[in-house]
Amino acid sequence: MKMLEGKVAFITGGASGIGAGTARRFAQEGAQVVLADVQAEEGERVRTDIEEQGGQALYVNCDVSDAESVRQAIQAAVERFGRLDVVFANAGINGVWTPIDELEPEEWDKTLNINLRGTYLTVHYAVPHLKKAGGGSIIITSSVNGNRTFSSPGASAYSTSKAGQVAFMKMIALELGRDNIRCNAVCPGAIHTNIEQRTEHRDTEKLGIEVELPEGSPALNEGQGEPVDVADTCLFLASDLSRHVSGVDIYVDGGASLL
Ligand code: NAD
Repeated sequence: MKMLEGKVAFITGGASGIGAGTARRFAQEGAQVVLADVQAEEGERVRTDIEEQGGQALYVNCDVSDAESVRQAIQAAVERFGRLDVVFANAGINGVWTPIDELEPEEWDKTLNINLRGTYLTVHYAVPHLKKAGGGSIIITSSVNGNRTFSSPGASAYSTSKAGQVAFMKMIALELGRDNIRCNAVCPGAIHTNIEQRTEHRDTEKLGIEVELPEGSPALNEGQGEPVDVADTCLFLASDLSRHVSGVDIYVDGGASLL
């Protein structure tokens, strides 16, 4: 029996990186997956790949920072597959990394709107469907950054959004336990995806702080992981293997942030 047979999973940021890797992994384990993203071409490519491997997938255009867009995407998911069991609120951006006196209000807002408001909106519109299904699993992609490490100078907006996601996750776990809905977070370290290419690093050298992995660091694989490393952790959190686990943030960083 596959681990997610009969389950429907809604995945934001499903067109790339950790979201796409997790969608593929969930589909291998029998889930019907919904890829919600702003990159239609990449999303359709992931959907086609999954279907060519014998899985079932749907791509929906969805800007997680826009309430109506999220509501419609979740509606489309339920119309197509009939229910919702797993929600992976994963879409995110690094935004602009720059000294605080040079970070413009609209840049702060953009990062917080996608990473934190987007997480809230996804959970907000999904929860009625999880309740209807008799329970479910919510997984949020936070980060080591802003929770266990503060080693990226200039990343104040990003780190704040990632810390906010963990607080939000714990409150949701508290609130929804009685509805048989679990909520947990994965906190990746450096994972090999496209996120760095989409990041604007501006003037961070002005901060005069250089942080590198220390000599003798406990990091596995030189501190770098792959999307599948996060996907396997999400599989645990989505499946009944973690039926007694809620309100937890799991670091997926190969031990890199221990020191
Ligand atoms: P990625 O850029 O490969 O994928 C992110 C996806 O989110 C993209 O497909 C992008 O189109 C989508 N997205 C961006 N804005 C969106 C919006 N408004 N609405 C819907 N989708 C949107 O990056 P990734 O590394 O796979 O990032 C996934 C998550 O992992 C993010 O929340 C990120 O903060 C977190 N994370 C990544 C790393 C890492 O090293 N890669 C480390 C820690 C945390």
